[in-house]
Amino acid sequence: MNTIAIVGRPNVGKSLLFNKLTGKRLSIVEDTPGVTRDRIYAPCSWAGRDFLLIDTGGIEPHGMTNVPDAAKRPLSDTPPEILSFMRKQAEIAIETADVIILVCDVRTGQTAADDDVAAMLQKSKKPVVVAVNKIDGIGPPPPEIYEFYNLGLGEPYPVSALHGHGTGDLLDACLALMPEETAPPENDGAIRVAIIGKPNAGKSSLLNRILGSERAVVSDIPGTTRDAVDSAFENGHGRFILTDTAGMRKKSRVDEAIEYYSVLRAVTAAERSDVCVIMIDALEGVTEQDTKVAGIAHEAGKPSVIVINKWDAVDNKDEKTMQRTVDDVRVKLAYMTYAPVICLSAKTGARVDKLFPLLADCVEQSRRRVTTGQLNAFLAEAVAR
Ligand code: GDP
Ligand code: GDP
Repeated sequence: MNTIAIVGRPNVGKSLLFNKLTGKRLSIVEDTPGVTRDRIYAPCSWAGRDFLLIDTGGIEPHGMTNVPDAAKRPLSDTPPEILSFMRKQAEIAIETADVIILVCDVRTGQTAADDDVAAMLQKSKKPVVVAVNKIDGIGPPPPEIYEFYNLGLGEPYPVSALHGHGTGDLLDACLALMPEETAPPENDGAIRVAIIGKPNAGKSSLLNRILGSERAVVSDIPGTTRDAVDSAFENGHGRFILTDTAGMRKKSRVDEAIEYYSVLRAVTAAERSDVCVIMIDALEGVTEQDTKVAGIAHEAGKPSVIVINKWDAVDNKDEKTMQRTVDDVRVKLAYMTYAPVICLSAKTGARVDKLFPLLADCVEQSRRRVTTGQLNAFLAEAVAR
């Protein structure tokens, strides 16, 4: 799915705009107990096109939104932590989005920090739309809007995140710049697999282990719209496509350590897959971030296999260790009773081959259709009993 990212200084109105554009639907969605959710991305549609909207403000640490940000501060006056977060936001947006909305605030005017980010975005060559927010009045936009032409990113769009004015034109402009989404190539039965998990769980190691094995015949498939790269391979268990492997293969520019980024990557990778591999570090057990990543696969409605990696490094294993580990996963990811759990080692390769039949089985089950007749027959028998 195409992705639009919202970037901008703290306090310009990113969150409010995000909420306005995604609408109320987000809060109606029933919460699954145990699914930890960050409201940082949401599926949207406009003018018949579906896309994922992401709010990079989600990476701002708490309290940052209240930092005073006086108009026309020179860059050297912008608190360094704000500048550094704005640059990270921009990098993440460049890495993950097809179109970027740069939000500015008409009340502060164009600031040096806006310029700094605008320059980064411009260099990336990604399509950017400038939204000048907090223009709450109706009628022609105030003359202050024209100074935002100086950002060098084309026509600024007046919006009011508060009232919603101008948001339709803003989205029209974004869609006009959005690359046509090419359908994923017909994969004649190949299973699309997303390997997701927190940083250092061993995603790259598993990828390399799988693609490096002698029996695997690997080929690259360029991604659809983003800079994603998929890797197709075939082995004794069938044909598979590992989705969105670019970041795993060339440790991406973006700081993978930012939790937000790994969550976001999981969203886009899961969305393009038939089945997810949720990687968990055996040495750490199931952490809160693991539950977030697992929740993404769950909410996307994808079947999953839970992989407990680094099994080689678990000390003092006895015959009960594996069962205890699986039990722990079952408690912490209680909403995923359907997902098989496997302990393996990406490093030594132990049990990696056991993963493929599980993946194939999950996908087969998820594609199974039960006819009304079968369901009625089943219910009739249940009632009779
Ligand atoms: P963020 O830090 O960029 O996510 O900004 P927020 O969405 O948290 O908004 C910062 C402040 O600006 C909040 O007090 C909002 O209510 C206010 N705000 C945001 N958009 C508008 C707008 O369009 N009009 C007005 N009047 N206030 C706005
Ligand atoms: P990623 O960030 O999820 O891609 O994780 P990496 O594949 O880069 O692995 C992170 C670290 O864990 C590296 O130092 C790996 O060598 C190590 N690692 C990965 N898999 C295993 C494993 O199965 N056993 C052990 N002992 N270490 C592993």
